[in-house]
Amino acid sequence: METFTTDAINIKTYPISENDSIVVMFSKEMGLIRGIAKGAKSPKSKLGARMQSLVANKLMLNKKKNLDIIKEASAINPFNKLRYDLDKLTMAFYTLEVINTFCKDEDKDEEENSLIYDLLYKTLENIQNAESKPKIILAVIKFQLIFMQLMGLGLELERCLKCSKIVKDDALFSIQTGGIICPDCEIENVQYVKLHKKIREFLIALLKTPVDKKTMYDDLVNDKITNGCFNLLKKYIEITGNKKSKSLKVMEAAKVS
Ligand SMILES: [Zn+2]
Repeated sequence: METFTTDAINIKTYPISENDSIVVMFSKEMGLIRGIAKGAKSPKSKLGARMQSLVANKLMLNKKKNLDIIKEASAINPFNKLRYDLDKLTMAFYTLEVINTFCKDEDKDEEENSLIYDLLYKTLENIQNAESKPKIILAVIKFQLIFMQLMGLGLELERCLKCSKIVKDDALFSIQTGGIICPDCEIENVQYVKLHKKIREFLIALLKTPVDKKTMYDDLVNDKITNGCFNLLKKYIEITGNKKSKSLKVMEAAKVS
């Protein structure tokens, strides 16, 4: 029987029988994977709490045709400290949901998987260590920006989407396309959000800084700025995620016919 080991963060768990569960995980080597945790719900189980959502484990799995079987799990980080704070927990689950929407099952791109795994792991650490609500949200904004860029769907915050001119001042941002438009290129009947020059500089700085490093803005953020940026990015991610699941459905339908 073929066995393999990987580091993985649990995305979600659902029961399939009285004692067994299926765990969806994001693994460092293969992206999203699913495995059966036998007896995980039994009090005597060796897997037990390690199969909960958000736990990062070092795993040993038996490769099966349909679903792999989780043989051993040792926790790398259970992220226990973020479980007792509802804001932190809600935001951590949001990042898992985004990963689950955009990442593919058993993706072969090891380099990309490893970058996403590190981003998620460090984001959960940042959320766990945040000392205030704006800092919790800041950790998630960094995740939103960098994750979408890794997916090839990064925001265009420096050049006008239409004429490619560098925009120096306030700009109009289109949530639909995830980019800015200069005042000369504004199209009527398209919905834009005004993006202040300072907010744009803030987002660009976050995007260009490794997720585990502080930016000059980290100690200056407040509720108004972080909530505004988070909601803007959340909306863009939702719209892009919906487009993606629609195109997947079309591909599925094409396969059947
Ligand atoms: Zn323009």
